[in-house]
Amino acid sequence: TKDDMKRFFFKNAFVILTVAAVITGIILGFALRPYKMSYREVKYFSFPGELLMRMLQMLVLPLLVSSLITGIAALDSRASGKMGMRAVIYYTTTTVIAVFIGIVMVLIIHPGKGSKDEFTKHQQIEQVSAADAFLDLIRYLLMLGATQGFKTQYAKRIIHVTVTVNDTMLLQNGTQQIAKEEMIPVPGAVNGINALGLVVFSICFGLIIGNMREQGKPLKDFFDCLNEAIMRLVAIIMWYAPIGILFLIAGKIVEMDDITTMGGQLGMYTVTVISGLLFHAIVVLPTLYFIITRKNPFVFIGGLLQALITALGTSSSSATLPITFKCLEENNNVDKRVTRFVLPVGATINMDGTALYEALAAIFIAQVNDYDLNFGQILTISITATAASIGAAGIPQAGLVTMVIVLTSVGLPTDDITLIIAVDWFLDRLRTTTNVLGDSIGAGIVEHLSRHELRKKDPEVGNSVVVE
Ligand code: ASP
Repeated sequence: TKDDMKRFFFKNAFVILTVAAVITGIILGFALRPYKMSYREVKYFSFPGELLMRMLQMLVLPLLVSSLITGIAALDSRASGKMGMRAVIYYTTTTVIAVFIGIVMVLIIHPGKGSKDEFTKHQQIEQVSAADAFLDLIRYLLMLGATQGFKTQYAKRIIHVTVTVNDTMLLQNGTQQIAKEEMIPVPGAVNGINALGLVVFSICFGLIIGNMREQGKPLKDFFDCLNEAIMRLVAIIMWYAPIGILFLIAGKIVEMDDITTMGGQLGMYTVTVISGLLFHAIVVLPTLYFIITRKNPFVFIGGLLQALITALGTSSSSATLPITFKCLEENNNVDKRVTRFVLPVGATINMDGTALYEALAAIFIAQVNDYDLNFGQILTISITATAASIGAAGIPQAGLVTMVIVLTSVGLPTDDITLIIAVDWFLDRLRTTTNVLGDSIGAGIVEHLSRHELRKKDPEVGNSVVVE
């Protein structure tokens, strides 16, 4: 009946509007392509999309800090320890599986034919040691806020390379000034903020406040309230999200290169990455979810639709974070104590899609160079790809920057990243969606595994998380 339809629409309004936005964006984008807009016109045209990006990014810092601090302070330290362990085990396992899939796919399909004729000219650059990259990763962990002053060679070089090849990409994530070389962002920087350092700080701070019990209550209430206020802002921005997504997608379609120029090895490479990501997202993660929780994974994924589409539209798992929170808490009823703790960490360090892609891309570059990798080198690639995915920020094409770590570790020419830049904007969207899915399924699994801890309340600390 009409009433039923109305109710159905309102219940699913966001999903319906978002899906409609994607479809309209694609149609509009292709319809406008023949007009060959100038770079400036495209930027004007996609401005509503850029606004969405900025609105979401604006929320990331307060959301990340307040949710992590309250999430951790709401648990007693034993419970948060256990939950943290489970999350870490989940992140490690799924990332390792993702890397494995990436490697198997690229070895079987073998998209690189051992010739670079069809790519841009290659030039040898000096190598950076993998040890430097690892040390930097540790530095970032303990560097709250500041993102400058870390002029790591690899970040500098790759950013320089990407700028010369594709300046629109840097405009897109708002770091165009950084390209001027006087300011080099750390790989983990979101909007000029070192997310990794922020996560570490917030966890420590949350633990301390939790241990302060009564004394810590004012601070806990403060962050609780801050978190609640931010989530209300998110609820408002969600109404704008479909419009933003529409223009993000249409704008990208208008400005992308002709698909027909993307033949041969690059085409096969794209197919290989897509197959790997799909396998991980549609087979591996749902199966894992089902085995552990015995619940239907696709119902769970259905509840995440808006977050997944936002990831596709923004190419940024950090920018998607506010929407991911909403979807998990409101559609899938995941306990707030779990989402607050697990999601910010996941969005920052757990990137299955990025890990899969980095390993796959590195081996592809080896194939193109006719460079035979032995087992040890493939193992090195898996380890560095994992590290690179942890170090990558949840911003557009961050994975491309941290890929230098992977290439360097086995002595592959880092300049060859330019070979795959042409298709990266697209693959980035898919791996971001996989990243968000991985984080969300992780929250579902951790909640299930922690159900005993979540049931009992710590008498002294109490459970200050008010579930509305
Ligand atoms: N854009 C991805 C994300 O935000 C990171 C990457 O470049 O792989 O999750």
